[in-house]
Amino acid sequence: MVTFSKGGGQFIAGKSVNNDADQASIAGAIAGAKHVHEVAALYNVPVVLHTDHCQKAWLPWIDGLLAASEEHFEKTGEPLFSSHMLDLSEEPLEENISICKEYLEKFAKVNILLEFELGVTGGEEDGVDNTDVDSSRLYTQPEEVWYSYQQLNEVPNGMFTCAASFGNVHGVYAPGNVDLQPVILHNSQKYIAEKLDDGNDKPMRFVFHGGSGSSVKDIRYAIEAGVVKMNIDTDTQWAFWDGIRAYEAEHHDYLQGQIGNPDSPDKPNKKYYDPRMSLRAGEEAMAARLIQAAEDLNCVNVLN
Ligand SMILES: [Zn+2]
Repeated sequence: MVTFSKGGGQFIAGKSVNNDADQASIAGAIAGAKHVHEVAALYNVPVVLHTDHCQKAWLPWIDGLLAASEEHFEKTGEPLFSSHMLDLSEEPLEENISICKEYLEKFAKVNILLEFELGVTGGEEDGVDNTDVDSSRLYTQPEEVWYSYQQLNEVPNGMFTCAASFGNVHGVYAPGNVDLQPVILHNSQKYIAEKLDDGNDKPMRFVFHGGSGSSVKDIRYAIEAGVVKMNIDTDTQWAFWDGIRAYEAEHHDYLQGQIGNPDSPDKPNKKYYDPRMSLRAGEEAMAARLIQAAEDLNCVNVLN
């Protein structure tokens, strides 16, 4: 699963490019997606291409990506992106879901899944700061999940997942600052299952935002409550940096000038400061963290 954020798309296009109308965020995310489509075959694994939080003011970004998916679908029968998240949790529930439904109708025509948000994920990520939000909004109500399920389920071929807040936050904080209540997801499933009464005890597919820093116990409990995807950003960011940090520490004396190191004052250091060396160390450290996440999520060797 590869996720592009609006800020990530802009970064890929280049931070100096004008982004007044989200053109850099659109072009960068499309370029990244095309890169993934091109190289994914070499890894011999299926890849899900997703985009992260899109609030109301950012919808033109998704409009640009959807247009690219529609074009790609016409040529290949597949969308460019597998799924998009719309985060309209700042808006009143009815407005949130009616906009989501409008988009799901378009997504469904090209096999794109919708991830929507209920309640507010706390913390701060990608320039959106929810650190001061009223704590009652961090916990979704079962009635809200049921309302959304009913509305979105009316869309033919509509596929959707729900990022319901249960005290989860973006970022990693000192212990005691996050009060995770995955029982909220359990209660919501039970509520919907009773309403539907069709034998399915987990009708809603949930997404766990803010997985960084979570205990394996909370992760496993969330999976039991019907979580099918966990977002992990802050921990992977740290792992990437930690790999670069360790590389610099190991080769410090070879990284202080272009020429001259402990072996000889005349020796060039190019092979140490080539950016690919430190960036590769970051990738390796991040890959190790992702393997740990896959283990935490019971997601090892499940594709065979
Ligand atoms: Zn999130």
